[in-house]
Amino acid sequence: MFKKIALVGIGLIGSSLARVARRENLARHIAISTRSRATLERAEELDLGDSYSLDPKEAVEGADLVIVSVPVGASGAVAEEIAPALKKGAILTDVGSTKASVIAQMQPFVPEGVHFIPGHPLAGTEKSGPDAGFADLFRNRWCIFTPLPDTDPDALEKLSEFWRRCGSNIDTMDPQHHDMTLAIVSHLPHIIAYNIVGTADDLESVTKTEVIKYSASGFRDFTRLAASDPTMWRDVCLHNRDAILEMLARFSEDLASLQRAIRWGDGEKLFDLFTRTRAIRRSIIEAGQEIDAPDFGRQAVDHPAKT
Ligand code: NAP
Repeated sequence: MFKKIALVGIGLIGSSLARVARRENLARHIAISTRSRATLERAEELDLGDSYSLDPKEAVEGADLVIVSVPVGASGAVAEEIAPALKKGAILTDVGSTKASVIAQMQPFVPEGVHFIPGHPLAGTEKSGPDAGFADLFRNRWCIFTPLPDTDPDALEKLSEFWRRCGSNIDTMDPQHHDMTLAIVSHLPHIIAYNIVGTADDLESVTKTEVIKYSASGFRDFTRLAASDPTMWRDVCLHNRDAILEMLARFSEDLASLQRAIRWGDGEKLFDLFTRTRAIRRSIIEAGQEIDAPDFGRQAVDHPAKT
């Protein structure tokens, strides 16, 4: 599809893209650039690309497609650095979890004739770095584009086709709507998980050993989210502040109402809510975004050989 793809940032997302692009033969040349020598050397050991450089300008030179996969707070600085080396007609995209802020940071540096199309694959794990990536990460997951008013439709279609070949389904929406939607489906759940795990860590009446020993009763499922990359999630909180604060306000109101129902023994209210929420999980399974295996599919995924 492309003569040369440049991947700036080669962590979980960048390395998954490198792997799937190679497997699906999406580029003749994959150029990799990252900030630290250690990560670059690891990417080379893993044979993720065709050329490696600590200088992102060198990597993007002559590239038809440039994908920036760094924490959202670093996207402006990266755009500024690579801008002079971008080829006319190239597609420049990103994978950042927040969109309005990334656009505000990157767009001012995008040279005339370069197609900047902000994107966000809704696929990830709690792991980071080049070892964490895998080629199937994007399979049957959504990739959302937030095109700008002057986005070239041909460039958008070409980028959409690239992501389709990576296994994704494509959607487009405006950046504000993206940020509001992601605040509830992704950012708030992570914040709640960080909070509950932090609360457990601070407890004095229940020991840490007990929290860990009996974690399978529910706590464990929060710890997966709460193990996510601290830099990435710090940046998400700082760069989607308004939408997250709005969702947190709603969440706190609903929590207060739940608290009241528990205090006043309002079993009907509790039962109604728990019934409504159960149906949501069913819809998620039906939409193919989760599997209906016992134990959230953990046995099947983590211990496939176990009988
Ligand atoms: P990651 O595994 O931690 O990798 C981050 C990459 O960015 C590494 O190559 C790192 O370089 C580089 N980097 C870190 N800080 C930088 C800085 N200040 N300036 C320049 N480069 C820097 O992260 P990831 O999970 O792939 O996330 C990358 C992007 O994808 C983020 O914007 C995130 O919001 C988005 N995203 C993540 C997920 C997810 O679940 N993880 C899902 C969808 C979208 P060094 O290692 O060389 O320092």
